[in-house]
Amino acid sequence: MRDAQKLVVVSQCGDTLLRMPCAIGFATDRHDALTFTIQKIKHTRRWVHEEEAPKDKPGFLRKQTEGAYNTHCIKLKEKTSGRTVLLHGTYLNTQLTPDNQSGCIMVRAAEMERLTRLLSKKSLVVMPATDASALGESDSSLSPTPEQRYLDSLLAQRGNHIVDTTLQHYGYDRMMLDLRLLQRRFPNLLHVELPDTTEQGRPLSVVRFGSPNAKYRVLIQAAMHAREYLTSQLAMFMLEHYAAGYDSLSFCSHSYRQTFDSVAITLLPMVNPDGVEIAQRGAEGTRTDEARRWVQSVVDGGVSHTKIKSNANGVDINRNFACGFGRKTEAEGRKSFFYYEGPQPYSEVESRFMMAVARACAPAAFLNLHSSGNLIYWGAQGVLPAVNERALEMAKLCSALNGYRTVGPEAQTPCGSWADEVMPLFRRPSVTIEVGTRNPVPVAEIHDIFQRNKFVWVAICQWIADMK
Ligand SMILES: [Zn+2]
Repeated sequence: MRDAQKLVVVSQCGDTLLRMPCAIGFATDRHDALTFTIQKIKHTRRWVHEEEAPKDKPGFLRKQTEGAYNTHCIKLKEKTSGRTVLLHGTYLNTQLTPDNQSGCIMVRAAEMERLTRLLSKKSLVVMPATDASALGESDSSLSPTPEQRYLDSLLAQRGNHIVDTTLQHYGYDRMMLDLRLLQRRFPNLLHVELPDTTEQGRPLSVVRFGSPNAKYRVLIQAAMHAREYLTSQLAMFMLEHYAAGYDSLSFCSHSYRQTFDSVAITLLPMVNPDGVEIAQRGAEGTRTDEARRWVQSVVDGGVSHTKIKSNANGVDINRNFACGFGRKTEAEGRKSFFYYEGPQPYSEVESRFMMAVARACAPAAFLNLHSSGNLIYWGAQGVLPAVNERALEMAKLCSALNGYRTVGPEAQTPCGSWADEVMPLFRRPSVTIEVGTRNPVPVAEIHDIFQRNKFVWVAICQWIADMK
């Protein structure tokens, strides 16, 4: 089959995306790449873009948001036959550039057969991804879509426990699937957005839990440090606990519903997915040669990949913020498995993402989940005394529940950390809880950690509600 092009059908995230060889086009949220692809389809495949797209959004015919996913549709017409085909793409990130003409098309399961027939006549090869059956309809209708049916079958298998607390390596793909499952089971309590994508192509998730009309927000983040991935698993397990108990459980005579209806949570369940994948899988967890070489150099230098805290650029995200940036220089100004602050503040997509989320939700308090040490850091230097007092109050509240020791700002030199940055900027308290006895935290500890911390989120939210 001379000059055959390949059409690759993939799901929206996961490693399939970067393994594909070549494709005729794809859909993305990047306007420039989409325009390029459409041009390519028009000229080389003799297809035309059947409907005119809005001028400010070339290529976009429709954009729908269904739960966590944005779906884009492109309607194309084959010039000679006049037949049309509707391509559905979901929020994707590819390495497509004019020099590297690879990409993908993501197609709804229901479209697969028709599209395969059509394209095979054009000497195109269709390569369904192994998980293509997971793809579903994006338009809402009364009967469940293929994706919803797939999620429902998984939910039936998992029963009352969606988040698996026996896995030592709770990774990015698992977390993303669990988010979809939680959202399917508790559609009115959770809202998921994927506003940014990491260097290695993994969408970063933001979860709103509680009422969309809640007056206040608490911003909670987990797994900013790669090897601390147990905090993601913990955060997801907590989320399930609060969602499942929304109408039946209470704390200090307030039902969860009462509390989260007035103070909602914005959760960043895995701030550093690229790093998490590296800490769990080593070079296997990378998707670019540069990242692979860097991980290899760390390992060759005698440091296990399991000890890595940084992202795939070798930058410690908790040193990449502006306040106190570069004050501590353990990493000697170059990529490192920990403590390298990066070339300048906010050089990393993860730190820009965190700040954008914070600005959007203007939280009344910040809670940071790290590991390990079973202790609680509160406050920061150079912060208004009133704000530090609030942070101390919040830390005492957490300590009363989980029994961890508290550490104040005098022991913490500002170093471009998240807490250093947000407390003076937002004038709101920040507390960091370090869970577990060592890194990576053995998953066997998760139930004890959960029992100690399960009321922490709701207690903080009640505390916010009571103070206002
Ligand atoms: Zn940490």
